Amino acid sequence: MQFKDIVGQSVTANHLTEIIDSGRVSHTQMFLGETASGSLALAIAYAQYLNCEHRVHYDSAEGGLRADSCGECPSCKKYRQLTHSDLHFFFPNAATAQVKGTGISSADFQGEFREFLNARRQVGTLDEWYDFVGVEKSQGIVRERDADEMTRALGLKAYEGGYKVVIVWMAEKVNTTAANKILKTLEEPTPDTLIILVAESSEKMLSTIVSRAQTVRVPRIKAGAPEPNEEFNTLYVTWMRQLFKLNMASLSSWVDTLHAKGREQQKRFLLYAQEAIRDSFLRNNAGLPSRMDFGDAKFNASFPAMITERNIELLNEAFNNAIYAIERNAYAKIAFMELSFRISKALKKR
Ligand SMILES: [Zn+2]
Repeated sequence: MQFKDIVGQSVTANHLTEIIDSGRVSHTQMFLGETASGSLALAIAYAQYLNCEHRVHYDSAEGGLRADSCGECPSCKKYRQLTHSDLHFFFPNAATAQVKGTGISSADFQGEFREFLNARRQVGTLDEWYDFVGVEKSQGIVRERDADEMTRALGLKAYEGGYKVVIVWMAEKVNTTAANKILKTLEEPTPDTLIILVAESSEKMLSTIVSRAQTVRVPRIKAGAPEPNEEFNTLYVTWMRQLFKLNMASLSSWVDTLHAKGREQQKRFLLYAQEAIRDSFLRNNAGLPSRMDFGDAKFNASFPAMITERNIELLNEAFNNAIYAIERNAYAKIAFMELSFRISKALKKR
């Protein structure tokens, strides 16, 4: 996971890369915030950045980011597949139809957990995880055996020569016995190790653990509040011009460009374009100033007048459906083509 693939968290990402770049990496960190807002994804991107061999720094803000991992070095490739041998996950677990017995732990669900992370782009919630693995809701805990395995993982020599990283997802589900064991590990840190506790709330956690961790607050992301993005703006303007003329040949190549992007990028672009259209509506109907610069002077001289109260609802609904489809792994090419036709139709109803 690279920071660029995480929606709406560039401020937090910049804070995190700065911690690493300035060499102030604490042995234990707590990422406090909703998984759906990217707390787990940020933890993974943070560990990937820490171990990246060719970190990238941007002169100008690219999507608001100042730095990111390269995505290409051997460590990044393994992080992307979630197969890095020095990356260890612990998470709430419980007996299932397939995995029974008294000695269960996260180790019994490593394959499923990685599948879950991939399927839900690392923003799947705890309930979704329980559904995914077939566990009764609220039965999962991080147990004593997990704590033992964590100590063992951290005691091993790093296979790949970088940092050994342990990520405990939903750390509020660590039971007391396990928490006390983990506390011992935190008190005697081994070099080049990083423990990241990812939690939605610190209230149910042992205060001794909380006090030992450097806390990073992950803000809740508000949908429909995109950041300025030049690439998106160009894509948006090109798209709207094509839809107005319904130029099929160039529309099809535009759709191919979008299809080739990652899902988070596709979703982020859709939120951006939806906001740009809402902005046109407000500009045209309420004479309100823009919250952000969308389009360009030539485009803005004529396009806002196309968005009226006769089509704004249709457009919104079309975007919401497309975002929903992308989130659920629909075939992107079809989702973008369908959305294009709906927008084109709506624009005629002005
Ligand atoms: Zn790298």
